[in-house]
Amino acid sequence: SSDKRLLIAGNWKMNGLLQEANDFMDAFGSNPAPEQVEVALMPPFTLLHPMSDRLAGMGVTLGAQNVYYEDKGAFTGSICPMMLRDAGCHYVILGHSERRSIIGESNAQIRSKMNTAWLHGLEPILCIGETLEQRETGVTNVVLAEQLAVLKGAPKNAPLTVAYEPVWAIGTGRTASAEQVTETHAFVHEELTRLGHDCRVLYGGSVNPGNAEELMGCPGVEGALVGGASLKADSFMDIVKAAV
Ligand code: PEP
Repeated sequence: SSDKRLLIAGNWKMNGLLQEANDFMDAFGSNPAPEQVEVALMPPFTLLHPMSDRLAGMGVTLGAQNVYYEDKGAFTGSICPMMLRDAGCHYVILGHSERRSIIGESNAQIRSKMNTAWLHGLEPILCIGETLEQRETGVTNVVLAEQLAVLKGAPKNAPLTVAYEPVWAIGTGRTASAEQVTETHAFVHEELTRLGHDCRVLYGGSVNPGNAEELMGCPGVEGALVGGASLKADSFMDIVKAAV
């Protein structure tokens, strides 16, 4: 729906053992990415190295679901950007609503993570989105503007993708309507332009093979961040095909 190349990205969340990743790759075939669409996978940390090996030469981009905001050192249990680069990652998801609400990640922490990610050549996929209560009380745009404000003062041409994910649509089987998506993406693009980041904006929230074509056809939608439906190679590939 624009001149930017679409991105269909699969966020596996906390799912996937080595055997399941191998089964996924067997079903994925050797040429899963059509020319017009970029395809990316974000498996859990433990699968990055083996997935990177299996994805070699397939034209599929690898990403991680989180990163720490320090370069290295005494931070037991954390993963730094260089480890992600070393494991073959280009993307890192930041600010996913599950991390904001369950782990309590703040906009300030998300900004620190973006800075460290950029320093080491990763492209953040910054997730933003309102809760149902926020939408119903009419503060959606206020919330989105606050979440996008982490970009203030950021290097203007830093690599970036934004994902608009209404919290009430994530993992619920409920998607935003085409009208809501179109309206909200227009606002997000406006804010991004104001902040000096004319970047790609994905939609996320219960995207599946049945609704992908309509959602990807909305003006201002330049791809999808897919959770549940990315765990099976066939449904994920059907979403990729629907986006072409
Ligand atoms: C997500 O994890 O970003 C997501 C959109 O999940 P789902 O597709 O399962 O709603």
